[in-house]
Amino acid sequence: MDILKTPNDVKKWRNKIDGSLGFAPTMGALHDGHLKLFKESLKHNKKTLVSIFVNPAQFGANEDFSKYPRNIDGDIKFCKKAGVDAVFVPEAEGIYGELDFSILPPNALCSVFEGAIRPSHFAGVCLVVLKFFNLIRPTNAYFGKKDAQQLLIIQKMAAALFLDVKINPIEIMRDKNNLALSSRNAYLNKDSYKRALALPRAIGRVQNAFENGIQYSTELIRIAKSELDGLKIDYCEIIDFNLKKIASAKEKKSLMIIAINIDGVRLLDNFWF
Ligand code: AMP
Repeated sequence: MDILKTPNDVKKWRNKIDGSLGFAPTMGALHDGHLKLFKESLKHNKKTLVSIFVNPAQFGANEDFSKYPRNIDGDIKFCKKAGVDAVFVPEAEGIYGELDFSILPPNALCSVFEGAIRPSHFAGVCLVVLKFFNLIRPTNAYFGKKDAQQLLIIQKMAAALFLDVKINPIEIMRDKNNLALSSRNAYLNKDSYKRALALPRAIGRVQNAFENGIQYSTELIRIAKSELDGLKIDYCEIIDFNLKKIASAKEKKSLMIIAINIDGVRLLDNFWF
């Protein structure tokens, strides 16, 4: 496996590749959710490149950038074991200049839900993803459905900017208790982990209700919130793929997005109808 540290390393590596290239961007502290992205890429592309970069541009001033879990040696071993062809592990200075450009996603997408809580988050995500796409020139890119708003915004950015890359959504990987895997789960202690399990329970009940014919958003949201009783809910809504709240859930056209905050740890989960 090649370890690429600078944009120049990537350019040289990329120029030697012919055939399809799959790309999975990550912030490291890799787990089996990330592995699902890598496996999809390995299955459908000649080569696979994974980036590991805790992107400072997507963290707000009061957020967890400095304490975000980092495990670069373990992550490199993880990628090697998975069969990844190259990892890109840049320093922030290699990615961002002293004077840099910015990209502004539309307000309707980036100032709602996660964006209402983290105002410059999606501008930071779009900037790094666009930079990486331009540098890496992947045929396919892989994004988890767990970060639903991120996935929808990246899909819209790729379409709006005529980017020559296919965005592939990947199903949510869960642990044995159905909690969606996340690097931030490492922040949970035993008690907060136990309380966090209300989140997959809520998702499960919504899925069940929908399968039994309940479509009204108010009713599905009520069911989810009853399971989340006592927890700090940041949002719990049913939306379409333009991130607009809708009156009823529609199969393959809508999703429920939930974010809760347990003892300062923000956890996301969602259900795609
Ligand atoms: P992160 O390292 O948290 O920025 O995540 C990198 C990519 O992995 C994103 O596209 C995430 O949506 C995806 N991802 C993270 N957790 C999971 C999971 N449990 N299942 C599937 N994909 C995930």
